[in-house]
Amino acid sequence: MENALKQNHQEGSVFRNRCPKCGETPIFKGFYSMNAKCSACGNVYEKESGYFMGAMMAAYFLGIVAIVPTLVLCIFALQLELPTALIIAGLQLVVFQPILFRYSRIIWINIEHKLSQKA
Ligand SMILES: [Zn+2]
Repeated sequence: MENALKQNHQEGSVFRNRCPKCGETPIFKGFYSMNAKCSACGNVYEKESGYFMGAMMAAYFLGIVAIVPTLVLCIFALQLELPTALIIAGLQLVVFQPILFRYSRIIWINIEHKLSQKA
């Protein structure tokens, strides 16, 4: 029973900004600032220098997911020219950047945690 509850905490850790190992404490303490490690289980979030380079890949895919619907809407529904649609999508990325930054790091920490469990 306790393991099932713990598993539920771990699976929702991306959306709840929680440690992927224990699900107890938040990864981000502010909007941009992260805790160095989990105060409950001691899980270190930035394992080494350059650790968050992998988060750039997550940010790339999140950015694609964010702008493709906007591009489709602008081009096919609103009949805008491609350069105009690209400018709107670019502005959308600028506005969404804080969210992309935060969730790309949380996703990367969770991916790395899942992969390290299987190794
Ligand atoms: Zn923890």
